[in-house]
Amino acid sequence: MGGGPAGSTAAALLAQTGRSVCLVEQARFPRFHIGESLLPAGNAILKTLGIWPDLEKYGFLKKWGAEFTYGDGSSRVKINFKEGLIPGEPHAYQVERAQFDELLLKKAESHGTALRRNQRVIKVREEERGWTVTIRGEDGKESLLRTNWLLDASGRTRILARHLKVSKDGVALPNRVAVFNHFTGIPRQPGPEGNNIIVVRIEKGWFWIIPIDEERTSVGLVKVIEKGKESAGEAMFQSEVFRSPYLSKLMAGAQPTQPDFRVEGDYSYINQRMAGRNHLMLGDAAGFLDPVFSSGVYLAMFSAKAATDAILGQAGARGYLTGREQRAYETQIRKRMSSWLGMIQVFYHERDFSIFMSPTKRFDMFSAVNSVVAGYPAKRFSLRWRYALFLLACRVNRFFPLVAPVELTPSPKQ
Ligand SMILES: Cc1cc2nc3c(=O)[nH]c(=O)nc-3n(C[C@H](O)[C@H](O)[C@H](O)COP(=O)(O)OP(=O)(O)OC[C@H]3O[C@@H](n4cnc5c(N)ncnc54)[C@H](O)[C@@H]3O)c2cc1C
Repeated sequence: MGGGPAGSTAAALLAQTGRSVCLVEQARFPRFHIGESLLPAGNAILKTLGIWPDLEKYGFLKKWGAEFTYGDGSSRVKINFKEGLIPGEPHAYQVERAQFDELLLKKAESHGTALRRNQRVIKVREEERGWTVTIRGEDGKESLLRTNWLLDASGRTRILARHLKVSKDGVALPNRVAVFNHFTGIPRQPGPEGNNIIVVRIEKGWFWIIPIDEERTSVGLVKVIEKGKESAGEAMFQSEVFRSPYLSKLMAGAQPTQPDFRVEGDYSYINQRMAGRNHLMLGDAAGFLDPVFSSGVYLAMFSAKAATDAILGQAGARGYLTGREQRAYETQIRKRMSSWLGMIQVFYHERDFSIFMSPTKRFDMFSAVNSVVAGYPAKRFSLRWRYALFLLACRVNRFFPLVAPVELTPSPKQ
């Protein structure tokens, strides 16, 4: 259920092995979706799907790293993926999701997936062995699908979690909202670095700046809203741009390409359960993390790979997942998420973030942080202890300043 990166990846991987797969997607593709900056750690899965040459041919911009700065532009930290501790892929892509998701969906189809486009899942029912799914087409006609395995890749709609009343684990991050648009007229650094994502930390949140193609740049604001005092929309976006000297200068000649700014809630959660005897939840349908480190599409594809590995293993022959196999799947997803959660908490804590913004060559600590930002899991010992040391330095810095505190752009006087 769902033809975003999680659903298409799972469908393609299963169909590649000759399984009979049906994928139901409600939207008319190509459709807009936010989540445009990919991570190098996801390249391996894209290559397994056989879609890498298509991405190269399509001409998406190559993302060589990321840059972090403050609202006043006072300090900048650059991450070049090729300098990471894990000698991984040197680049990822910045993608317009409408095209990227369509390419993935077509890849799933070319591997043999039966696509039910523009059809909406309206009901699911668990049977003794497998599931029955009711879908509704644009003409209002309903039909039934029967399946041994049901994979929920419906994104934040969380069809299965809602049906099974699976609660969300609270992630200790405040509720934020994102306001964004594509713009022309935003200057870039010359050379390959001009393609990198820029993250601008402001007082109550951050901006992303993601080059989409030669002309268009995606710019979004993520922040906590003061209830009753402001509402999420263009005015809030422009007022935060105005407060930031760095953004005011960068966006002086920017023109939005869409008349209406898009607004999305950005509420982090992790499902308490992600698997059962004959079902698995993938991508955002399993959990969603604050997007500051661009982890979403990678986690979607990673969980799709983990889910298909689970089905294609002994469970495939047996016809169901044992409790142990269900837990093993969930543990893999949680571990990946917790790696990022540590970084996200550092990002939002002003004192912790000042450590991030003071990279040190000592103990190769920052090249370890680089690899975590690129999406590599902190499971190798060489990475794990350095990342743990970095997190420890952040904690110590809260009580015994190791570096100068961050000066975030001040709020205007009330
Ligand atoms: C503000 C913001 C910025 C982000 N930035 C980034 C970023 O830079 N990089 C990054 O990697 N991630 C980013 N993300 C996260 C990223 O968007 C998601 O993690 C990613 O799209 C998850 O993929 P998915 O396949 O799980 O779900 P989705 O991509 O949401 O796909 C779910 C699909 O299911 C379909 N569907 C839903 N309900 C039904 C139904 N009833 N019947 C049939 N189909 C259905 C939907 O139409 C949709 O196509 C960002 C997210 C937000 C909110």
